[in-house]
Amino acid sequence: MTGTFYGLRSLAASCLILAACVSLACGADESSTTKPSSGGSYEVHDMKRPQPEVVTPGTASTNEQPGKPPSDAVVLFDGKDLSKWKADRTEKDIKAGKPEGPADWKVENGELIVNFGKGNIRTNEEFRDVQLHLEFWHPTDIKGSSQGRGNSGVFFMGMYELQVLDNYEAETYADGMVGSMYGQYPPLVNAARQPGQWQMYDVIFRAPRYEGEKVVKPARMTVLFNGVVVQDNTELLGPTRHKLLTKYPKTHPEKGPIKLQDHGHPVRFRNIWVRELKETPAPAARSAAGAKEPPADAK
Ligand code: MG
Repeated sequence: MTGTFYGLRSLAASCLILAACVSLACGADESSTTKPSSGGSYEVHDMKRPQPEVVTPGTASTNEQPGKPPSDAVVLFDGKDLSKWKADRTEKDIKAGKPEGPADWKVENGELIVNFGKGNIRTNEEFRDVQLHLEFWHPTDIKGSSQGRGNSGVFFMGMYELQVLDNYEAETYADGMVGSMYGQYPPLVNAARQPGQWQMYDVIFRAPRYEGEKVVKPARMTVLFNGVVVQDNTELLGPTRHKLLTKYPKTHPEKGPIKLQDHGHPVRFRNIWVRELKETPAPAARSAAGAKEPPADAK
């Protein structure tokens, strides 16, 4: 046993010396350890670490007027037209005689309005991990109840529905109310405003990660509804299903569209934008070796 241990230790030491020699022979210097990598190549307070990209923040919306998106946002609807959208057609729809084509919803006074019976709409562009901002509005002449009152929805990757519903002093099943991951998770609280008021979703969506046919990280969703957290990094069970317990398919697209649901109710939308997100977190600092104590005013 002991002989084997020392033999291995000797071999490991030889490898380290060889690696050091190769490094010196190649003229490697300190900078070779500062390249970004998934392993975390920076020391604590390393001034060589790249600065984050600069983004000019947007402005907040009021009930009377939508705010402005951040400078790096992909604007999906700014009140003018539906050029970023098209009709959402499945192969089944096309076989049934519903052709592909432009989004046939209404645009009035800078607002996007569900056009009953024209079907869901989806973005031309496809996305993976995103931050999404969207505002919606329900009419004051309330009609219907439960799922029949102000129903629409926002689908990420075309398949994960964040429910849109009028739940102001109105009940339905908890995993189908506004702020719910439909059929999976109720919102943490009901932060709905009354009809006639613009309401806001701010969402961080992360697509599921697969290795082969296996899900190694489920899709995740964080949702602020009217500024209130209603989903906190919620791990989704799979794509949205109705009256079924969902699960992940064996294969999953890398990207998918943002989709809005036509549930036959007069829901209005405005100020819709996304920002594509990078992998996070960036690799953590490797160690504090060599880090100097920062000045007191820099802490
Ligand atoms: Mg819905």
